[in-house]
Amino acid sequence: MPEAHSLHRHARDQRAALAGQVLAVSSPQGRFDPAPYDGHRLLDVQAYGKHLLHSFEGAPDLHVHLGLKGVFLRTDDLSLPPLRSTRLRLAGEREAFSLIAPSVCEPLPEPARDALLASLGPDPLRVGAAGREEAARRLASARAAVGAAVLDQSVWAGIGNAWRAELLFLAGIDPARRVDVEEAGRLWDLAVRLLPLGVDAGQVVSDPAAPDERWVYKRSTCRRCGAPVASRSVGGRTAWTCPREQR
Ligand SMILES: [Zn+2]
Repeated sequence: MPEAHSLHRHARDQRAALAGQVLAVSSPQGRFDPAPYDGHRLLDVQAYGKHLLHSFEGAPDLHVHLGLKGVFLRTDDLSLPPLRSTRLRLAGEREAFSLIAPSVCEPLPEPARDALLASLGPDPLRVGAAGREEAARRLASARAAVGAAVLDQSVWAGIGNAWRAELLFLAGIDPARRVDVEEAGRLWDLAVRLLPLGVDAGQVVSDPAAPDERWVYKRSTCRRCGAPVASRSVGGRTAWTCPREQR
């Protein structure tokens, strides 16, 4: 499943390539009605956690969630016919983006947009230090173990399984227990510091000195201390931990 850094990267790329332009919008697959958007100007593209919102002049926002399998394909060859499985194609003056197999691609009128945004917790890639107190409060007051709570998009928006493993390792916190406000704040600080590196790199970056390495995620041994990495289900997803360093 794509994590927040990849959604924010999509938003940034599409904003840079298409915002301000009148787009040719189509659905080669036919499972999306492009009529409200075709020939309209794209104003902005924003990521909120794992949700993308495209705002158009004179049309409701367009809401995309990639889910497990969704991808965007980008091309600067506008004459290239899109894949027939393309749910949504956004073509600007020089580049086009094709959306394949999203879990959601729908018009989102304003009341539904407001409800979606209200349902999401703070996003470490959007609010920076300003949301720290609220983010720490939400995580510390969650009923679930921290490893389940950080994946709950109504607690924090955008954290997926790989970031969970790496952030909890760096904070020295075992995912199966709960955290206090102080620990939650430290975890938030790590997320606010590291997730932007992931946006630039296009992958989870938990060690700026070794961007291609992970500490514990999907490893057999801890990269820091060499202890065997433990894996077990927490919050319905496999959690990888260093039993020696995470308490
Ligand atoms: Zn270790």
